[in-house]
Amino acid sequence: MPRKTVIIGGGAAGLGSAGGVKAADPSAEVVVYTQFEDVAYSPCGIPYVHGGEIPDFERLFLAGKQAYVDAGIDVHYETEVTAIDTAAKTVTVAGEGTVSYDNLIIATGWNYADPGVPGGDLEGLYYVKNIRKAMEWDKVIAETKKAVIVEAGPLGLEMVSALVHRGIETHLIDPNPYALAMMADPDIMAPVEESWREMGAHLHFNTTLEAFLGDDNGKVRAVKTSEGEIDADLVVIATHKTPNNALAEAAGIKLGSTGGIIVDERMKTSAPNVWAAGDAVEIPHGLTRTPLQGLTGSHAYAQGKTAGTNAGGGNRAYSAVYVPWGTPAGKWVIGGASFGETTATALGIPYVKGEAQGISRARYYPGVQPVRVKLLAEPGTLRLIGAQMVGGGEGIKERADFLAQAIRFGMTLHDLSTMENVYSPAIGALNEPIVVAATNGVAESKKG
Ligand SMILES: Cc1cc2nc3c(=O)[nH]c(=O)nc-3n(C[C@H](O)[C@H](O)[C@H](O)COP(=O)(O)OP(=O)(O)OC[C@H]3O[C@@H](n4cnc5c(N)ncnc54)[C@H](O)[C@@H]3O)c2cc1C
Repeated sequence: MPRKTVIIGGGAAGLGSAGGVKAADPSAEVVVYTQFEDVAYSPCGIPYVHGGEIPDFERLFLAGKQAYVDAGIDVHYETEVTAIDTAAKTVTVAGEGTVSYDNLIIATGWNYADPGVPGGDLEGLYYVKNIRKAMEWDKVIAETKKAVIVEAGPLGLEMVSALVHRGIETHLIDPNPYALAMMADPDIMAPVEESWREMGAHLHFNTTLEAFLGDDNGKVRAVKTSEGEIDADLVVIATHKTPNNALAEAAGIKLGSTGGIIVDERMKTSAPNVWAAGDAVEIPHGLTRTPLQGLTGSHAYAQGKTAGTNAGGGNRAYSAVYVPWGTPAGKWVIGGASFGETTATALGIPYVKGEAQGISRARYYPGVQPVRVKLLAEPGTLRLIGAQMVGGGEGIKERADFLAQAIRFGMTLHDLSTMENVYSPAIGALNEPIVVAATNGVAESKKG
């Protein structure tokens, strides 16, 4: 009798889990429940279809439904799980009744934080998530003249560029003094904000949302803020991600301080035979051990693989994270690893800083782009603890990935200042910006 794993969620974590179970135990019965019409599409591409960089939504589908049938994964679309009973080892499924499991994986993901202001039920408020809805909203965007984006988080950043590309008068409102304040430093974001202004975006920082205002037909017509009203035909809600933990909480599964489900290194929850993965869980930061929730799709997928492998009888660990990140923003690409100066200061973590303004290729090679690197290190040991970058795009992602590994394995500014690098005029400069920043950081540390 094959063991049965039930997975709640068909996003990156849920499908990573399904693959993990099957890899560990090919004969396992795997049933996935999702509220959506589809699985295996990239939500990450949606803002770029809205912006016109990607010509259609069809390209975002990674696999057809038959691929899951062929892989022996039984996906139940548009099907909601309404309860979990960990003692009976069952879930309650709308339209199906009580379904038993040997192992359960909770991959219920995230929701945008409720803006919590009047007018939340008006037409014209767009929460970017589901691809089918995005296809419909794209038609609305085509008719939109004025839009407001609520909050300058990662999705807000992408949607500013997307709507500006579509020729829409775009306003960004955020209560913080600058964009992406929860993770980036103001000096990293300054060129991004300048480029948005050049592109025609209207930025309203230190501005709090107070209400959505509607017309007589129940459609949004404006946004009321602490700094006045802004007219809008469309409002994109890009508030921070909150864990979709209602099922887990109702089942008595332990949640942490972020509201994410607490899991161990094998992605096991506090309940027997119940695992969890993705944006519904919290994971400790590798250096500070601070719980982090709502990481990225790549984290969700890797956690899913871990949960699935272990539920399938294998053995796989998911370690604490060092959070490489990156995204296009305005005319720039920003990125980093671990944390920046703002977070270090907020947490009371002392640091030595090494900075460099470098280039992505030989200075004479066409297409050369600026790359600014900022490294933070522990005073004394000079162990790398954080990094942030802004540049034309070339190599920001690879540097962020590399620097996260450097932090993870305890590299110091000395190590990075003597690191080898590729030099080839078309793809890399003689002086790698990371090396220059590390060298400057070592010099800075000697000044005391
Ligand atoms: C517009 C957009 C852009 C993004 N851009 C990036 C990016 O650039 N890079 C990146 O790494 N990540 C990106 N992401 C991914 C994202 O930020 C998350 O990290 C990722 O979606 C987390 O995956 P998840 O599987 O944990 O959760 P989700 O994707 O939220 O999936 C949750 C699943 O659970 C199902 N579900 C929930 N409750 C129930 C229930 N009761 N019954 C049945 N099914 C249920 C839902 O239907 C869904 O299938 C983007 C996401 C969006 C929407």
